[in-house]
Formats: sequence, C-alpha cells, structure tokens
Amino acid sequence: MKYVREFLLFAAVFCLAGVFPLLAQISPLLPSQKAPLSDRVVAYQIDANYHPKNHSLDAQETLTWTNYTGQPQDRLPFHLYLNAFQPKSTFMREAYEGGNRDVPVGAKWKDKKFGEDVIKSFEVVGMGDLTGKLRFIHPDDDNARDQTVVEVQLPRPVAPKEKVTFKITFHDQFPEVVARSGYKRDFLLAGQWFPKIGVWWKNTWNCHQYHATTEFFADFGTFDVKVTLPANFNVGATGVQTGETANADGTKTLVFRAEDVHDFAWTADPTTKIVEDAVTISSGTVKLRLLMQPGHMASAPRYLDALKGTMKKFDEWIGPYPYSQITVVDPPHGGNAAGGMEYPTFITADTTWWMIDGLKVPELVVEHEFGHQYWYAMVATNEFEDAWLDEGINSYTECKIMDALYGRDVDFMNTRVATAGERGTARARYIGVAELDPMTRRGWQFLDFNSYGGITYSKTTLVLLTLEHIIGEQKVREAQHVYFERYRFKHPTADDFMNTVNEVAGQNLDWYWNQAARGTQVLDYRILSAGSERADWANKNAPKKEKKGETEYISSVVVHRRGDFIFPVTLEVKFDNGETIREYWDGQDRWQRYTWQKKAKLLSAEIDPDHAILLDRDRFNNSWLSYPDRPATRKIAGYWMLLTQWFAQLLAWLA
Ligand SMILES: [Zn+2]
Repeated sequence: MKYVREFLLFAAVFCLAGVFPLLAQISPLLPSQKAPLSDRVVAYQIDANYHPKNHSLDAQETLTWTNYTGQPQDRLPFHLYLNAFQPKSTFMREAYEGGNRDVPVGAKWKDKKFGEDVIKSFEVVGMGDLTGKLRFIHPDDDNARDQTVVEVQLPRPVAPKEKVTFKITFHDQFPEVVARSGYKRDFLLAGQWFPKIGVWWKNTWNCHQYHATTEFFADFGTFDVKVTLPANFNVGATGVQTGETANADGTKTLVFRAEDVHDFAWTADPTTKIVEDAVTISSGTVKLRLLMQPGHMASAPRYLDALKGTMKKFDEWIGPYPYSQITVVDPPHGGNAAGGMEYPTFITADTTWWMIDGLKVPELVVEHEFGHQYWYAMVATNEFEDAWLDEGINSYTECKIMDALYGRDVDFMNTRVATAGERGTARARYIGVAELDPMTRRGWQFLDFNSYGGITYSKTTLVLLTLEHIIGEQKVREAQHVYFERYRFKHPTADDFMNTVNEVAGQNLDWYWNQAARGTQVLDYRILSAGSERADWANKNAPKKEKKGETEYISSVVVHRRGDFIFPVTLEVKFDNGETIREYWDGQDRWQRYTWQKKAKLLSAEIDPDHAILLDRDRFNNSWLSYPDRPATRKIAGYWMLLTQWFAQLLAWLA
C-alpha cells in the first residue's frame, strides 16, 4: 500500500507539472466490465470555468447526440434546470403552494436563491448558429414564465442513426443551495448545471419542466468534463479524475471522465478533507472517496462502514456495481439542502458534529443514496413520471439493508431511551396520506409534498413488504435481481417492473398492483366483534356456575373489511385451554363470521398475527382481548407515534 501511495504522489507531482496523460489510464469502469454498458446516446464534453467569488461559471459544451429514435428529428428539447430558481418558475410556484424538501409552503422569495442557466450561443455543426432558433416551451403547464425547457428547431432533420453535434456556450449562476444545487459559503454542489437534452421515450420527446417535487430523466452516454477553479479547492465529481494541470493564474484545471452514466455532478470546497478507502465486491475493487467537512470527521468511519456494508448487500442481492469509484460528499453546516442526494457514482450524505452512535442518520443517508446507484443511476426510470420506481423501490431496499446491517426495528435509532425502525417510520408517513394519490401518479401531480413523499417513498416500501407476505421474501428479492439485470442502462416503465414481479412470482398479481400501485384503495381489516357465550344458555337445568374445562361455549368472531382494498387475511384465535386456531379468509366480502363450539372460552383474536400486512392502515383494530389492557397499549403507542413522526420528517428530506 505504501508504495502505491508514493507512486500516486509521484504521479500527482507530474500531473501538477502539466504531464497529465499519466492519470489518463484510470478507467471509470471496473476492468471486469465490458464497455460500453449502455447505448451511449449522448457524449458530453464540457469545459467549465468556476468563479467562486460570485458562485457562477462560464462553460463551453459540445454535445454529440445519436438519433436512435428510428425517425427523423428536427425539434429537440433541452433542460435548463437552474432556471427553476426564479420567482416566476413552475418550480417556485408549486413549492409555494405545496412545499418541497427545501422550500416550505408559502415561503417568501429570497434573492440569494436566484439561479440561472443562460445559453449564450448555440451552434449545430454543419447547420450554423441557431441561437435565434431557441424558444422556451412548457409542456406540463401554461406557465409562460417558466424557462426550464428550451427547444431548438433545426433547419434540416437529423436522420435515424445520424449523429448531430451541438456547440453551446452557457453561463450559470448558482443559488444559495436549494434542491440539491448551489453554494454555502465556499462550498459548491454543482448539480443540474448544464444544458441537457431530453429523452426520446415511448415514441415522443420526454423533457419535463423542473417541478417542486420531481427529479430528473436523461439518456446514457459519456462525459468528459474539465473544471477550472482556484488551486486551493478540493473537488469531487461523477466518474474519475484523469488529469490535472496547474495554470499560471493560480487556478487549476481538473479533468474527469465518466462512462455509461446519464448525469454529471461535481462539488468544490477549499476546506474539505479527503478520505480514501476501497471495498472489494464481485465485480472488483471499488475506490471510495469521501469529501469531509473538517468538523464532521467523526462521521467518516460511519459513512465508510455504511457504504461498504450497503455495497456488499447490493452486490449479493441485486447485482454488481460496475464503476471503479464512488464519491461521497459531506455538506457543510447550513448546507443541508445539498445533503441526501444522488448522482451517478456521486452521492451527498448528511451528519452533524454531535451525531450520537445510536442515531443512524449518517448510515441511513449513505445507504439510501448509494441505493440510487441501482434504482436511478443504472435502472434509469423516469423520475418525473414514475418516482416510486426509483424512490420507492430504493426505500424498500433501504429498509431491507438497514435491517440486515443494524437490526430490524432499531435500524434508525437504537438508544437506551428509545428505539425506532424503518418499518414504523414508513407507516407513520403513509397513514396520513393513504387515500390521496396512487403510486403511479406523475410526480408533480400529487396533492402536495407530504402526499408525494408518503406515497412515493413510504407506501411503496409497505407495498413491497406486504408483497413479501404474498410471494415470499426470496421471490421479491429474486424479482428485483431479474428486474435489475434486465433493465440496467435502460429506461423501464412501471409495467416493466410489475410484469417482472408477476413473471418471477409465477402468478398474476395484477389484483394486487391494481389496488396497491395503480389505485388508492385503503387496506383496513378489523375485529368487529368477538366473545364467548355459554352453549347451554337455553337449558334451564344447566349448572349456574361455569367450570373450566367442562362448561361448553359458543365463541364467535366477526372480521370486517373496513377499507376498499381486498386482501386475504388470517385470523388467529386463542382459547383458555391453550388451543390456537388459524382461519384463512379471502377478504372479498364485507365481513365474515367464525364460530367455534368447545369447552373453552375465547381469550384473544387477531387479524394478521404475523404482522406481515404492513399496508394495513389501522393496526390497533386488528386484535381483541378478553381481558382489558388497551389504555396502556394506546399510551405507549402514542409516544411511539411521536418519535416515528419525527423520523418521518427526516425521511421526507431524502432525495
Ligand atoms: Zn431517494
């Protein structure tokens, strides 16, 4: 190891001297991977000059786009995401009305939150300067003031399979960090910072405006990015660094390369400390690169442990990570809006200087954001339209992996005074919004941010946990593995996911998907009534005194389907002679009565005795006891709900 370090130091000195081909050997993919892994629809080359004094940059972008659409194309849309951070944008209007993770409902506009991405010139190689042919479009609403999507009309169409090259110069103004992009003091997170072409999907252009709750969608390809900035800044980025030159004016130029990814983000900060490590998984040894705030160094080993544990679990359960590096950014105090975010091979975490061991926030955030390397970065679903396919599936795997690494029901908080887990938190977040929106709704069309989060993240988690009850935990895992293998580096749909599960399960689960994913049905079964009566009540000669083991009783339980979600349920009854009986009901009718005649009294009745139907909205009405202890239970449950609500707030912040 020592020699390797000395060699790297030697190499770094040469690079600083301007001899940077030495580092050019570093590949963004592991040697075991056979490139290309994706279609590579796009090839971006961006040369950016960052001005930290006013948090702006100027850049030249060369984008080569290959027309794989199968038809001639003469109108192409581009995202200009940073224009969302303007007072009249759709993003701000929606955030004002429904809130989002960084903008509370009704928030007043602040000038420091202004951001923009301005195209200075737009040339199409072989077609000339088309800057004058650009016009803003708003495919999702009628907001003429929204400038987050721009379209160009070409003088002649690009033929199928033909390549077209755009040469774009642009200027960015970053906002004080909001919604995963911007600065805090000297720290910068550059996300969604360059003009990015839309995706031809389902036989049409898919290039949505930037909305308050939605994320992104883009095609796979290669990125060659140069960033020039003052020499004292530490930089992390998507892909790997392949070169570095020192410039005469006190700046440096860093060169990055990424392959088979659909986005590129980077961060810069003069004060961060770089921690490097590695983990070996089935595809090879992956370099782990942490950019830590100096005051947060105590969390570095926690980030690394969580990252290694998560990467090994994904490797074991879902499939291989093909990239040679993963970069983790620890945002500064007050830069919370930069935390908990995912970009390809690049994630942002979150911690504080006082983070106690029992509070698993750093672990949870790293787990969640690394999970997005699978559910977003590789299986690249449309985050505008099908948010549950990335956030939801990812929240489910988060629950499974956190359970495996830190223990079920204590994986969030494990202290002497209190414990909390993923499942309880997901339920707390879902219950209040259960019937408001279906999982399959487009991201910006949810009632508000609470419903978007409660359904997209938490309901999906509960739906997949409940699916384990139907087809078994192993089948759900196998289905995810097959789905990953089949759709990585592609843009699958909601139907692709559900059909894959049906196929792996060997049964048609549409009855479940239609209610759970496509519908807003609420699942709630309850014990309507229960009790035992003497069987000899009509017999005048019956002994007055009941005698245990001799007196015969008729016991009955009525199970009621209170909600509109139809689901098979198990009823477990216990008698005072120690006997336990389980009854299985298809749950179709509104209610079902069960009766038993025996020389024993009913002690208790419970629906879903294995506590496997996580979707059941009200679990307090699932059981009946012949002896009272409900007030105490409810009181404890009340405290527990308060705690999980607090964690639910934290979860709501994850992207
Ligand atoms: Zn997420």
